[in-house]
Amino acid sequence: MGILDDDVARVREATDLVALASEHLALKRVGRRYTGLCPFHAEKSPSFSINPEMSVYYCFGCQARGDAITFIRQVEHLDFVEAVERLAARAGITLHYDDENIPKDRQRKTRLSEAVGAAIDIYHRLLLESPDGGLARRYLRSRGFDGDVARQFKLGWAPDGFDVVSRELQQRKFSRTDLVDAGLSFVNRANKLQDQFRSRLMFPIYDGRGDPAGFGGRSLDDRGPKYKNSPETPIYQKSRLLYGLNWAKGEIVARGEVIICEGYTDVIAFVLAGAPNAVATCGTALADDHFQILKNLARKITLAYDADSAGQAAAERAYQWEQRFEVQFQVADLPAGRDPADVWKDDPEALLLALKQAEPFLQFRLERRLAAADLSSMEGRARAGEEAAAIVAQHPSDLVRDQYVMMLADRLQIDADHMRAAVTRATQRRPDEPKPQSVRTRTEESEPVVLPERPVDPRELDALRWAIHQPELVANWLDHALFADPIARAAFDALVEATTFHDALAMSDGAARSLLERLAVEDATPDAEPETLEARLVVNTVEPAARRMMQALQRSGDERTTDVAPLLDAVASCRANGDWPGARTAALELVAWITDREHDEEPRGAVALADSESR
Ligand SMILES: [Zn+2]
Repeated sequence: MGILDDDVARVREATDLVALASEHLALKRVGRRYTGLCPFHAEKSPSFSINPEMSVYYCFGCQARGDAITFIRQVEHLDFVEAVERLAARAGITLHYDDENIPKDRQRKTRLSEAVGAAIDIYHRLLLESPDGGLARRYLRSRGFDGDVARQFKLGWAPDGFDVVSRELQQRKFSRTDLVDAGLSFVNRANKLQDQFRSRLMFPIYDGRGDPAGFGGRSLDDRGPKYKNSPETPIYQKSRLLYGLNWAKGEIVARGEVIICEGYTDVIAFVLAGAPNAVATCGTALADDHFQILKNLARKITLAYDADSAGQAAAERAYQWEQRFEVQFQVADLPAGRDPADVWKDDPEALLLALKQAEPFLQFRLERRLAAADLSSMEGRARAGEEAAAIVAQHPSDLVRDQYVMMLADRLQIDADHMRAAVTRATQRRPDEPKPQSVRTRTEESEPVVLPERPVDPRELDALRWAIHQPELVANWLDHALFADPIARAAFDALVEATTFHDALAMSDGAARSLLERLAVEDATPDAEPETLEARLVVNTVEPAARRMMQALQRSGDERTTDVAPLLDAVASCRANGDWPGARTAALELVAWITDREHDEEPRGAVALADSESR
């Protein structure tokens, strides 16, 4: 795994799961637990629950579960090592690795990120101070951005010199290799180090953690392409980066919505307008990787492209993404030919209005088609109907399609059945696209397989819950022979063998682990005095186990049933009379009887007991 186990355990212990999760969702204290809206699935009432003492979480809605490390992995899309490193840095713990290459790789990335960070400072200083930065300052002012904006977003100016920035970075002890590997410089034919960016307004790009990754540079004269981004490096992978995500993340989670723009200045305009949940792709089209990053942050995706490119940008993939990543697309209502930064400059309120009037993707496409059609003639409406049918046909949901059929029939004065038939024809003409089922693949995250939930006797769950929350209540009598359910039994075995709850989780897999995690966040609320509570637990747990054993004995003609029957009767009658001490005594005798027999006959006894229920 890379990081030494002891270090992983230290990191887990040092991390306050409640504090960590609070950075991503609002938590409310309920008894000894904390609950909130699950960050892993869309919901309106909280089913996400944290047990602060055990430092585990469980979602009753989507079954997301785990500890601080899994939480940060799922929320931030990190691999295990990255997640532990992230939490270690947070807690100030130095990690040790069993493979020497891992820290080297990590150190290398840190070094490259430091080089980019140093370049951000240099470019930023040059923008604010250098005489030749005037061109960039004037451009920013023309877009409505002042010095405060430049400082807030760390904007910069790459001077027109041949190697101005490379030289200064080398003086700061970054090697040639550092600068080339970080994408800041390249070696020219004369074997000289040359600046990657020249005469450009610089937008620093950070990764989701806020570490410097690279740049987008905008040309302010006619030389070269309008936008130039850092080349691909170990820390700058354009398909995995979103401009502004480092600043926007918290707001995206809080609002459950992300605004995706095309340009860096568009992101800035949204932030200044009061919509700080905006990001932009970094010199690449919207792609699967972006949704891997975004899907855990927000379900609602608002495209804020200028109207002409919005349709094209997502037309091919939007419905697939909606299904695969369980997100919903809408399109901001921007005037044709104008990008968000333009709209903002004239009227910040108009930009917010464009967001408010965002339309679902399908509606957006239909409205644009209808707006371009001649609806005054019958032929024109019929043609518009055919075209609209082809657009509606692309939507995978029958019900959604039918909603739009009704809308179109009304608007185009076409009989609804005819409109429906046109959509059906268009559906059949649709090129072979993957069926929804094949689109809905699991993400690359390797999630443990969870067995379908079988109903477990609630009395067994109750015993197990107390075994987690207050082990001293059950320590003297609870035995694995009392569990009929194999999963509950495995969970109990892990609790008995492990010294800490997290060790128990580590040694369980799949369903047992899931069960432990769920029970850990469920309340174990005392409903009585401790003695009565214990008696009730013993009685409740042993009764079904004893009855199962009786039946097994009867089936095999074993006459030891005569030992069990009177004890069972005693338990029942004491309980009926409210004599809990008496019920407890009889129940404990049953426990002894059952465990003796079970342990005598291991492993056959265990199997017989577990199987007896299902026969
Ligand atoms: Zn959930």
